Amino acid sequence: MACTSSEQPERYNFAAGPAMLPEEVLEQIREQLPNWRNTGSSVLEQPFTSTAFKQLMAETEADLRALLAIPDNYRVLFMQGGASAQFGLLPLNLLHPGQSADYLESGHWARKAITEARRHSPVNVIASGADQAFTALPPVDHWCLDPAAGYCHVTSNETGNGLQLQEFPQLSVPLVADMTSDFLTRPVPIERFGLIYASAQKNLGVAGLCVVIVREDLLQKPRSGLPAAFSYATQAEQQSRFNTPPTFALYVAGLMQRWIASHGGLFSMEAAAREKSSQLYRYLDASWLYHCPQRAQDRSSINVCFQLSDERLTEAFLNQASSNGLANLNGHAAIGGVRASLYNAMPLIGVKRLLAFMQEFERCHG
Ligand SMILES: *Cc1c(COP(=O)(O)O)cnc(C)c1O
Repeated sequence: MACTSSEQPERYNFAAGPAMLPEEVLEQIREQLPNWRNTGSSVLEQPFTSTAFKQLMAETEADLRALLAIPDNYRVLFMQGGASAQFGLLPLNLLHPGQSADYLESGHWARKAITEARRHSPVNVIASGADQAFTALPPVDHWCLDPAAGYCHVTSNETGNGLQLQEFPQLSVPLVADMTSDFLTRPVPIERFGLIYASAQKNLGVAGLCVVIVREDLLQKPRSGLPAAFSYATQAEQQSRFNTPPTFALYVAGLMQRWIASHGGLFSMEAAAREKSSQLYRYLDASWLYHCPQRAQDRSSINVCFQLSDERLTEAFLNQASSNGLANLNGHAAIGGVRASLYNAMPLIGVKRLLAFMQEFERCHG
């Protein structure tokens, strides 16, 4: 638990996930833990079928609908298994046997989604950034779409590669998006999507919860072999209470959503992410020690990835940053380099501290 004693060095957590939580949310968790909503016990000990907990789930869904302006013909599901389970569950829930799906190969996470989908269905890669080492996104007018595909899958923000889709096209097949790393960091036109999914531990609280927003007409009788707990239709029918939902993660998601709303909602989150990331990109582009290989118009405002021109300095950079209270700046294990994750809870002052450290490190190695 965070200690607010003045002896504690200031600490900013740039982890890609599980990510930092706002201090106010940690405070609320601490305060409310022993006796949640006057039930006489903690939220950790509530039956998920109790009136109080059903109420919490209804409020959490209503608040999410308000934040994202989710139309009435979409269902919100609270599932487990993370985004990684959804990689396999999408074809099992949305496709008929033998039907294929379109996938944009935009980076590390898209590749994972493709590998899992291929275990269940044919996959058509509509465009790939592989030939550019995933430093740019294939533009929409280069996507080779199949009009007969069951859906078209995109990764809205490539957490490890530092790339973010800036626009979502209107397609003739349902657009499906893994929004795990930029969920609730900007407004999105929900009506363009057939389905959106996002694990909670990056922008919506803690691990264990995966939110699925699905257009009602896509719910269908699950393919045989699909466990009922992972059937969208079953969970929709049972208000995500077919089995025990991740109760604590749902509670924290509720607190996070209220925190976002009380800080101005998604337009404010978007403006803050742009401010934080553009301060970093501006500095990176002018520096001789650091460089950012991503094409400018595809850069993520959430995960800023960069390298040191002398790779041998990366380890020293990360170690010194960490002892200066700038934690978990290492790039994705498969990619290396440095990554600053700027989720909603990261304050601008954290980015300013990082910039000051980077300038100092650059000066020392000049
Ligand atoms: C973190 C991440 C995942 C993996 O989420 P899990 O909850 O670990 O399965 C998937 N997609 C993206 C874009 C991510 O950032």
